[in-house]
Amino acid sequence: MNFFKQKNPPKNPFNSLSEENTFDNSCEVDRKLMISNELKNSLNGIYPVFQPKVSLKDKKIIGAEILARYTSKDLGVVSPKEFIPIAEEHNLIAQIDLKIIEQAFIFIKKELDSNIILNDFRISFNLSLKTFNQVDLIDCLKNLLKKYNISGNYFEVEITESIFIKDINKTVQKLNYLKKLGMEISIDDFTVGHSTAQLLCLLPVDIIKFDKCLLDSLDINQSKGTIIYKNLTNLIKELDLRIVAEGVETKDQLDFLEDLKVDYVQGYYISKPLSKEVASIIFRNRTNSFSRLP
Ligand code: C2E
Ligand code: CA
Ligand code: CA
Repeated sequence: MNFFKQKNPPKNPFNSLSEENTFDNSCEVDRKLMISNELKNSLNGIYPVFQPKVSLKDKKIIGAEILARYTSKDLGVVSPKEFIPIAEEHNLIAQIDLKIIEQAFIFIKKELDSNIILNDFRISFNLSLKTFNQVDLIDCLKNLLKKYNISGNYFEVEITESIFIKDINKTVQKLNYLKKLGMEISIDDFTVGHSTAQLLCLLPVDIIKFDKCLLDSLDINQSKGTIIYKNLTNLIKELDLRIVAEGVETKDQLDFLEDLKVDYVQGYYISKPLSKEVASIIFRNRTNSFSRLP
């Protein structure tokens, strides 16, 4: 029997797997390339959405996180979980961050020009490591504040612990400058990593955003998850910092956070991210207590 002439050779599961993988990988590479090329050509497909944050004390909207969205000409809607890492890899993230930040400024400016009172209201924006380390970040922000003639008090900067890998003194200096501009600083995606806990002592931060995974751990092991959440809450409160609980999806989670007297909540249970038009309507009525938002 000649194996080379066999009509239907037995399938080697490892070969077929690796063939599929090669196919998948090349598709993935093509898709990545398409996204990076399109973003290099133009950022027209990038636009902002706004996810409200609510104070648990009085059930009022205290601000929102501005998040980037991307609709590609050829691929349709692409998730931030896909395009943000590609933008980071191809050094496009600073341009995207600055575009989104400017959208936050434009949003606030428009509201103020319409005589909407925005006392104690802040829009937070995300700064990736590369954007934070961009030498002229502070100048860019100062220029935007000047261009739109608004105060930095309407903004909050969300950073992750990744920015502390570099020179800690420079980082602290930069954060202090942002605070001088009136902006608040929050640490995003906070979990139980001890490096973050160490940094809490060093950094001029105002707010800690508890990652969704901390709430999710309650579903995995209710009693242990509760101990972790409670202790972290106490730790942050004792440090005189405020807490945003991210990823609140159920009434049970909301009740749990209310019991712990967590300051603010953000998540699908309260509201999904909103278009700027809907956000504007919702925020104009923000002095009403929130029920669940659209
Ligand atoms: P993030 O900064 O942690 O933003 C929160 C993410 O959680 C958002 O995902 C939001 O839509 C999602 N989320 C909010 N509430 C819930 C909930 O109750 N359940 C679940 N499952 N998810 C919830 P999104 O918009 O897909 O963004 C993903 C990540 O992409 C962001 O995570 C952030 O790291 C990054 N990103 C988004 N926009 C920007 C940007 O303008 N600049 C930078 N550098 N990164 C951005
Ligand atoms: Ca964030
Ligand atoms: Ca987060």
